[in-house]
Amino acid sequence: MTTDAQALVQQLIRPEIQALSAYHVPPAAGMIKLDAMENPFHLPEKLRDVVSEVAHGVALNRYPDASAAHLKSALREAMQVPADSGLMLGNGSDELIQILEMAVAKPGATVLAIEPGFVMYRMIATFCGLRYVGVPLREDFSLDFEATLAAIEREKPALVFIAYPNNPTGNLFAADEIAAIIKAAPGLVVVDEAYTPFASGKSFMPRLAEFPNLVVMRTLSKLGLAALRLGYMAAAPAIINELEKLRLPYNINSLTQAIATQVLKASNALEAQAEIIVGERTRVFHELAGISGVQVFRSQANFLLLRVPDAPATFQALKDRQILIKNLHGAHPLLANCLRVTIGTPAENDAFLNVLSEIL
Ligand SMILES: *Cc1c(COP(=O)(O)O)cnc(C)c1O
Repeated sequence: MTTDAQALVQQLIRPEIQALSAYHVPPAAGMIKLDAMENPFHLPEKLRDVVSEVAHGVALNRYPDASAAHLKSALREAMQVPADSGLMLGNGSDELIQILEMAVAKPGATVLAIEPGFVMYRMIATFCGLRYVGVPLREDFSLDFEATLAAIEREKPALVFIAYPNNPTGNLFAADEIAAIIKAAPGLVVVDEAYTPFASGKSFMPRLAEFPNLVVMRTLSKLGLAALRLGYMAAAPAIINELEKLRLPYNINSLTQAIATQVLKASNALEAQAEIIVGERTRVFHELAGISGVQVFRSQANFLLLRVPDAPATFQALKDRQILIKNLHGAHPLLANCLRVTIGTPAENDAFLNVLSEIL
C-alpha cells in the first residue's frame, strides 16, 4: 500500500513540489511565543465584548457576503485606501501573493524578490511553476539599488516583491529607490506593507495614483488579528478586476467579515497597542545592544534581528527555557548566526532578555 502510494507520488507529483518542505510551524504550547510577529496583547475587554455580540449575530447557516462590502468600506476608511483604487481581500496576504502569482504564470514568466525576504514569494512561485530570481541585499541589509535595477532590466519580471519594512531584516528601504524601481519595472511591483503599523506611517498607499503598476499589500495579522486571516491589497481598478477572477468564492468567512468590520471601527485600540510595541522595541534594542556578543539591527517592524556567536545553540538554549524565537542561521548567507525575536509584552521581553544574557 505505502509503496503503491509512493509510486503514485513519483509518477504524479511535480518534482519541484516533491523537493519542497512544507511551511514549518513549530509547536509552541506552554512557551513564551516570540517567533511569529503576532501582537502579544489580547483585544481590550470592551472590544472582546463587541466581538462576542457580533459573533452571536452571524448566520452560520448562510454563505458569507461574497463581496464583503461592509468589511471593505471599513478597511477603506480605517486604512486610508484611496477612493479611486481597487481593493481586494484575501485569506491572509499569503492568499493574495498566491493570486498575484497565479495571474502572471505564463510559461517562462519570472518573479523577482529581494533576499533575504519573505519566504512565501519564492515558495508560491514554485507552486505556480514560475521562474524565481532573488536579488541579495547589501551586507548591511540596505537595498542594492544598482543590482536590483540591473536584475529587473535583465530578467523583465512580471512581478517584483518588496517588503516595506522588510522581513526578516526589519529595515525600511529608501522610498526614492523603491519609487525608481516601480518606474523601471515592466511588470507589477508589490510593496508588501505587513509591518506598516510599526513604521511611523511610512507607506506607498497614498502614492498609488502615481504608478499604474503598483500594488500595495497589507495584512491585519501583525496588528493584532492574526486569527482572523485577513489580508488586503489596493491597486488600479483594471488590475484588481482581473485578479478578482482568481479569488475563490467566499474566501473571507462570515466571522472574519463581521468581527473585523467592528474591530476596525475601533482601530485606535489596535494602534495604541502598536505604539506600546514600538516603545518596547526601542527598549529591547538598547538592552540587546548592551549584551556583549550581540549585534542588533535597527528595525521599523514589530521584531528585531540580532546576530550572536552561535545562533543555533542560542536558539536551542532559549527553547530549553521555554522561549521560542526564530533561528535564521542557514536561511540565507547574509543571515549567518542571525536570530529574529518578535517584540512581546514587557514581561515576555524581560524574560527573553534575562535568559539571553544568562546564556551568553
Ligand atoms: C507575515 C507576513 C505576511 C503574511 O501575512 P498573512 O496576512 O498572515 O498571510 C506577508 N508579508 C510579510 C512580509 C510578512 O511578514
